[in-house]
Amino acid sequence: MKTKAYAALTATSALAPYTIERREPGRRDVLIDIVYCGVCHSDIHQARGEWPNSIFPMVPGHEIVGRVAAVGGEVKKYRAGDTVGVGCLVDSCRECEPCRAGDEQYCERGWSLTYNGYEQDKKTPTYGGYSTRIVVNEDFVVKIPDRMPLDRAAPLLCAGITTYSPLRHWKVGPGQEVGIIGLGGLGHMGVKLAKAMGAKVSVLSHSPGKREDALRLGADDFIATRDPKVFDQNARRFHLLLDTVSAAHDYNAYLNLLRRDATMVLVGLPAPSPLDATPLVFERRRIAGSAIGGLRETQEMLDFCATRGVVADIETIAIQQINEAYERMIKNDVRYRFVIDNASLAGT
Ligand code: NAP
Ligand code: ZN
Ligand code: ZN
Repeated sequence: MKTKAYAALTATSALAPYTIERREPGRRDVLIDIVYCGVCHSDIHQARGEWPNSIFPMVPGHEIVGRVAAVGGEVKKYRAGDTVGVGCLVDSCRECEPCRAGDEQYCERGWSLTYNGYEQDKKTPTYGGYSTRIVVNEDFVVKIPDRMPLDRAAPLLCAGITTYSPLRHWKVGPGQEVGIIGLGGLGHMGVKLAKAMGAKVSVLSHSPGKREDALRLGADDFIATRDPKVFDQNARRFHLLLDTVSAAHDYNAYLNLLRRDATMVLVGLPAPSPLDATPLVFERRRIAGSAIGGLRETQEMLDFCATRGVVADIETIAIQQINEAYERMIKNDVRYRFVIDNASLAGT
């Protein structure tokens, strides 16, 4: 099926109109008309070849929400008209230990990323949500809860689950101090989710102008990290730090903000930066990483957000503004997620 999209043809070319071929829905596939797609910083990293694995032409977008247009004959979970979402994965081997445990994002035989990846045949390229429709196996589709605003739900499919999963894994809750480093797309979801889980939440930001927003989003405290004194003032304060920063920065200074035995979880994926053993050794601190979340956990996160009234703060754009939106994200000028209105693809 010919499908309108926006693609990067090389790591240095701007995104531009492009036509892709989607497969006809198979027996267990869901055909989704995409209504909105969030813009993640990973889209920029990959479209610009900042990670070593870019496949071109690339149609980015893994924060997809839409309506089911048709389903294959054996689909049980969805029917035409349902509002659904697709996140960062469209398939995995389904047999390895992580897949069987519901951690498809750690599939040992290679997951199928929603874009910049291959289907499980390891040769058909995948194309993401900067397009009018997508065909996905029903097991990799999630239900958007009723009454959740679709545009503000889109960023939950990556920014939401990427922060929810480590907050749950490290059992964040009342009585704990959680620090969110970087107030962008992921960071602002981290604040809302950690707060909804009952923690005391601080934002650590290199942008002093975000103080009011941080407090409005629910943070209890705002720490402007351009002032080096704050690292002494807040030493040994946090039970968990979640680092969402997209640009290379010094991890070591933040480690001293952890309590004894506490963990700093990296979810941001910037260029490498050196790690000093000293702050880890002396307080038995830990540094860890976390990738998105599995399908079951993504549905759990959406249901949790629906119950708590958690959605993203967004600025809606037309697809024609995507290159400008990338520039604005790099300049840190987004409050706090761009979401593409995919109806704008109709005129391309
Ligand atoms: P974003 O909206 O652009 O936010 C990134 C934030 O990093 C900015 O808001 C800013 O916060 C901070 N920052 C930017 N440049 C900085 C600099 N030079 N020094 C210090 N801080 C800086 O990006 P995002 O979409 O949230 O994504 C964040 C990162 O997570 C990206 O690297 C992305 O690829 C990665 N990611 C990982 C996963 C995963 O599964 N682990 C999933 C999705 C995304 P302040 O202004 O508050 O400092
Ligand atoms: Zn993402
Ligand atoms: Zn697997």
